[in-house]
Amino acid sequence: MNSPLPTAWLEIDLSAIQNNYRELCRISGAKVAAVVKANAYGHGLVEVAQAVLEAGGEWLAVARFEEAEQLRKNWIMAPVLVLGYTPPEQVVEAAKENIRLTLFDTQTAIRYSAQTSQRGMTVKVHIKVNTGMNRLGIAPQDAVEFTRWVSGLPGIEVEGVFTHFARADEPAADTTDRQIRIFDEVLASLRSVGIQPKLFHASNSAAVFNYPQAAYDMVRCGIALYGLHPSPETLLPATFRPALTLKTRLTSIRELDAGEGVGYNYRYYTSKKERIGTIAIGYADGFRRVMGNKVLVNGVEVPVVGSVCMDQCMISLDGIQGVQVGDEVVLIGKSGGLQRTVEDVAKEWGTVNYEVVCGMADRLTRRFI
Ligand code: PLP
Repeated sequence: MNSPLPTAWLEIDLSAIQNNYRELCRISGAKVAAVVKANAYGHGLVEVAQAVLEAGGEWLAVARFEEAEQLRKNWIMAPVLVLGYTPPEQVVEAAKENIRLTLFDTQTAIRYSAQTSQRGMTVKVHIKVNTGMNRLGIAPQDAVEFTRWVSGLPGIEVEGVFTHFARADEPAADTTDRQIRIFDEVLASLRSVGIQPKLFHASNSAAVFNYPQAAYDMVRCGIALYGLHPSPETLLPATFRPALTLKTRLTSIRELDAGEGVGYNYRYYTSKKERIGTIAIGYADGFRRVMGNKVLVNGVEVPVVGSVCMDQCMISLDGIQGVQVGDEVVLIGKSGGLQRTVEDVAKEWGTVNYEVVCGMADRLTRRFI
């Protein structure tokens, strides 16, 4: 339930996420697995998963087994793939909950098989092939033999084979073409020995736009689902909508004389008589402790002054009329005719939009609209 009067909060537009999901289906022409790891990129794991499923979604993907369990605990029973490593100690639970695991090494395969077959259970796995990302995955030259061998192990069903691109957000990276070629060769060799898992998949959001030939049976999309641009070179079409707004409240207003210090270590001094406001958000919320932050008050962009504290920070209200304690302040989103996007904040923080939204703290209230 939405809390009526939060102090610092995210507004998550679930209809935007549903719109973006449908757009990804239309553009890719494939099944779209909604990547909801890291609390759905800060947007709220369970609510986002439910919204995508309501919009007709079928598949979910997370990074860790614990995230898949979280979905199951909330009665989300859709197919979910754990993209990272899952220890063999958890394979029985995975089989019980029908959680799909990623597999890419022999020792783990043997241990999965021993655990499940002993109990008359089967775990579904997707085999990951390292076509060039060099993070996880079996070497392409071993992929066919490995898949054939795993397919013969008791207690394991190979449901999918997949890979991940390193540079899909660069529109013309020849290394992505090479990754696609290597993956195609693995698929052709598998078919030639009569192995045809249900799902081949490779693309993330950026690849849907830059490498449409790599959609295969399913694409795995995170950032675009949230209406955020995959990279400065890979911008989303205008039909996508960002889903996240970050807001807080003005909690105090004071008039300071010239030459007064503000906040810890006085990293800001007033140079004239100045009105300073305090807002209820800080670095413990994911609002970074860097100089140069800006916020929107009544449709005007104003600077954060001094250091960001753990739970609060100060802003200059010079020349802003008609504000009072309790008023809303927008950190990401629209106010009047102005907008601050996740990408604006990422640029100011010297990072990517992914990190900005994944950094939104759990303690921020999430209001779903
Ligand atoms: N597939 C894998 C294996 C990933 O690790 C990720 C995210 O990092 C994704 C898909 C989704 O990527 P994106 O958010 O760029 O769509």
